[in-house]
Parts: sequence; structure tokens; C-alpha cells
Amino acid sequence: MEVSLVIGDRDVIVIHDDRMLDHRPNAEEPFLPGRLASRVQAILGGLFDGVVLKWSYPEHPGRLSAITDLLTREPVPGVRYETARGASQEQLARVHTTSYLEDIYALRGKQAWLDVDTTAVSSGSVDAAEVAAGAAIAAVEAVVGGRARSAFALCRPPGHHAGSVRARGFCLFNNVAVAAAHAQAALGCERVLIVDWDVHHGNGTQDIFWASPDVMFFDTHRGAPFYPGSGNKEDIGAGLGEGLTVNVPLPAGCGDLALVKVFRELLVPAADWFKPNLILVSAGFDMHRLDLCLNLSYSGFGALTAIVQELADKHCDGRLAMVLEGGYHLESLARGVRTVLEVLAGGTPSMTEEPGVREVAELIAFHKPAFL
Ligand SMILES: [Zn+2]
Repeated sequence: MEVSLVIGDRDVIVIHDDRMLDHRPNAEEPFLPGRLASRVQAILGGLFDGVVLKWSYPEHPGRLSAITDLLTREPVPGVRYETARGASQEQLARVHTTSYLEDIYALRGKQAWLDVDTTAVSSGSVDAAEVAAGAAIAAVEAVVGGRARSAFALCRPPGHHAGSVRARGFCLFNNVAVAAAHAQAALGCERVLIVDWDVHHGNGTQDIFWASPDVMFFDTHRGAPFYPGSGNKEDIGAGLGEGLTVNVPLPAGCGDLALVKVFRELLVPAADWFKPNLILVSAGFDMHRLDLCLNLSYSGFGALTAIVQELADKHCDGRLAMVLEGGYHLESLARGVRTVLEVLAGGTPSMTEEPGVREVAELIAFHKPAFL
């Protein structure tokens, strides 16, 4: 293990493209006529009945700006930036049906609601979604082509809830699935491991590779009934893919120690058994405690990154590509991404610990001399 590295010793490519800022769904604009409109309005109206609170779309361009602003203020040595090409129809069609793609393309330049799970598009959304999927492809090409040891695609809209025929949960195209399929079809990667640590279950990715014999899908998430409600431990794939879906539904309140335990004691042997040629991570940051869904700290994200990186070094010549998924608290999203990049760039993650233990030790050291 390379313990003597410092930040900057390993090169990391971050894929970012301003066109992804043009996805700006606006909950206040009138809905296009459609079957879903009245249902969505009913749901939102019921949800906020009597509450004087303006509903705003949580998956907004400010998420990416928060990340890039922090990385500008506090650059990570070893990180270089690249832009992306929009994914082609052929690339998207490896995981989405042609009819679904045509339905989405028909929305180019329009505003619409696609699903009761609040997946909306604005005039720039289809182009942004193509660039997001293209960014995930670019990340994979960077690491498979050897231009960098690891890569991180700052994608939005996110992707892991999108299935082959359906937009869901803020997701239009399944970016990580498009990247995995591209690695297999165009870059000669036979076996791809997808690790999904977003707090929500990656139901779309699971469905797409449910019966695939050469994609292992490993997903830690807060268990049902938490959104989207899928990802039970008994769901292990089917057909040729039986056993290659590994779901780890977690109870509320899980923190660093629980997640590190899952990764060390389950992900590591699973990956050693599967022997991937490439590792992808659906990297959401909504597990952070500021996002209120689970209880991870920044050290926790650093520790998980180090474990995945070690697996990539062992099995794939270090080839590791991360794809941004969720994370809606801007501070923990930006700081979480930066923490991951530090470890990818060669930094050593700080020790994981239960929240408050270090602070309590300091308080004890402050008071205790009075009683000796
Ligand atoms: Zn999420």
C-alpha cells in the first residue's frame, strides 16, 4: 500500500462542463399540458398545503457551482480539468430504449414534468443531460486511456434513478450505466464494478444490469421505505446476473464506522471474487450528516474512497472513475467532493470516528485537571 504519497502524487481528471448548468427546472412555471401535470400539482399542493414556503427544485445548478467555487478557492494539487462532449444517441441507446430516447429528445427546448417523482426538464435540460452522460463517458475514457489514474465527472442531472425506459428522481439518462456500457462496448473492459454509495438506492442502475453477467452492482443506501423504496438485501439479480447485484440497505443514523465496515468486510471480498477491469462509483454526497439522511462525516467519504482506490489498484491498474449523483446540502456536497479528490490525488484519509468523541476528549482534558 502506498502510504507515503502526498496530495498531488496521483493525477486526477475532473470533468466539468458549464452546459450542465443549463438544466434549470422551475417549479413555479406552468406545467405543459399532459397526463402527469394535474397529478404532480396535486402532490405538491398536498405536500405544502397551508405552508408558506416556496418549493424550489432541490437539484439545481447551484450544486455544481458550489463544488467548482470551493475547488477554485481551495485547489487540490494533481487535479486537472476537462470538458465533455454530449453523449451520442448510439452511446445512450446501450442502456436506454430508442423510444425512450425519442420521447426525451422531443422535449428539447421545452419545459415539462416527466414523472411524479419530480423529474422536470427546462429548455436546456436535454442538452445538459447529454453532456452529463458524456462527462461520465469522458471520465471512463480518461482512466482507461491512461491519461489519469482516476477521474471524477461532475454530472448533473444525476443518473442512477433513471431506468432504460423511465426518468425518475431528478435523473434523465443513467450516466454511470452509460459509462459502464461504453467501457464494455468500446474500450475493451470486460467486467465493470459499479459501487453506488449515494444515500438513495440506485434502482435504475440495478434494473439496467439486473441480468448482466459482467457488471457487478454494489449499493449501500438507506433502506425502504426511504426513497425510492427498492434495494432489499434479497434482490441479488437474476438469470446470468444472479448474485452480481449486492444490496446493503442501512438503518437511519448509520455513520462512518458502519459504512467502512461494509466496504472492508463485504465490498472488498466481493470485488476480489469478481476481479473487475474497471471500477465506477455512483458518488452521491447525501450520506453526509448535513444532508440529514445518514450520518457520514467527511472523513467517512475519504475512507470509502481509499478502500475503492485500493481495490482499483489491486484489480484494474488503478482505473477508477467517479460519477456525481446526489447531495443537496451545498456545503457538504462541495466539501465532500473535495475530500474525495484529495484522496484520489494521493492524500491519506483522516481517521474515521464517531461524531463528538474527539470534542468530548478535548473537553475532558480541559476540565479534568481541576479534579486531580
Ligand atoms: Zn441521493
